[in-house]
Amino acid sequence: MCILIILSVILFCVNLWQNSKEEEAKKEEENKENEEKNMIDYKANETIRVKLCKTGEVVAMDINDYLRGVVPAEMPPYYNIEAIKAQAVVARTYTYKRIEAHAEGEGVDICDNYAHCQAFYNKEQILEIWRRKGYDEQTINTYWNNVNEAVVSTQDQVITYNGSLIKAFFHASSPEKTESVDQIWGGEKLPYLVSVENEEAEDYANRTSIVEVTFENFINKLKEDDMSRSSLELKMCKEVKICDLTTSGRVKNIQVGEYKISAEKLRTLFGLRSTNFTIDIKENSIVFNVIGNGHGIGLSQVGADFYAKNGKTYEEIIKHYYTGVEIITLK
Ligand SMILES: [Zn+2]
Repeated sequence: MCILIILSVILFCVNLWQNSKEEEAKKEEENKENEEKNMIDYKANETIRVKLCKTGEVVAMDINDYLRGVVPAEMPPYYNIEAIKAQAVVARTYTYKRIEAHAEGEGVDICDNYAHCQAFYNKEQILEIWRRKGYDEQTINTYWNNVNEAVVSTQDQVITYNGSLIKAFFHASSPEKTESVDQIWGGEKLPYLVSVENEEAEDYANRTSIVEVTFENFINKLKEDDMSRSSLELKMCKEVKICDLTTSGRVKNIQVGEYKISAEKLRTLFGLRSTNFTIDIKENSIVFNVIGNGHGIGLSQVGADFYAKNGKTYEEIIKHYYTGVEIITLK
C-alpha cells in the first residue's frame, strides 16, 4: 500500500515536470515566432510617426522619406557614397530597433532629438542648411541624389546578429580603435559591439582637440555637479591623474583628491569630444589633449569614409565595425 502511494506520488511529480518542460518549449517556440513576426512586420514604405521635439508635433511619413532626412542630418554629405549607404542601413536598423523598444510611448515611433533618438530634418531644411554652408545648386543636387541613392539602393536592409536587430551605435571618429560598449556604458558585453581596428583620414578636422580648464572652473563645476564633492580644493588640481583605462586605451576614471571621476562625466561637464585624452597640468589650468570625436562605439563615420574611399563596399564597412553581423533584407 505504502509503496503504491509513493509510486503514484513519483508518477505525479514526473508528469508535472514533463508538463512544465512542454510549456517551456511552447513558450520558447512562441517567442521565436513573435521575433520572426516582428522582423517581418517591418515593410517597405511603412509609415513612421516622428515627433518633432521643438514643437511637440507628431508627423507621419514614409520610412524612406524619414531616412532621407536622417542620413544627411547625421553624416556630412560630401562623404563617399558607400559610407553614406552604410549610414542609411545603420539608420534604418536603429529606427526599427527604437520602434521595437517602444522608446517613445503611445502613438510615436521615434523623435528628432539626436541625443535621444536620431537627428532628422525635412528636405527643405536640409537644402537650406547646405545653401547656408555655401554649396552651389549643382553640388546640392548631387548631394541630395547621393542621399536618395543610399536610401533606395539599400531598401529594407537591416543589420542583425543571431536573427535580432543590433543596437546600431555609431560615432564621428575614433582614430586607431573603436571601443567596446561595456567599457563605456557598463552593462553586458555585446559580441557585435567590441573594439576593432580603425583607420581614419588624418586631415579630419576634429581628429585632435584641446580643452583647457582653469583650476577654479574645474573644481567649481565638479562641486556643482555633485554636492558630495564639497571637500574638493584648488590645490588638488596639481595632483590630478588618470587612474584607469578601458581595454582599448580610453580613460575610464581620473583621480582628484579622494574622488574618482568618470571620464564620461568629464566629457559632459567640460565639452570634451571624447574620453580618449591625456592630461597636462599647467600653472593654473588643466589641459585635456583629446583624440577623436564621440563615444567610440560601433561604426566610425570618418573611418567609414576612409574605407569607402579605399574601395570597400558599404556591406564590408558595416561588417568591419559590427563584429559577426549579417545584413538582411526585410520581406
Ligand atoms: Zn526619442
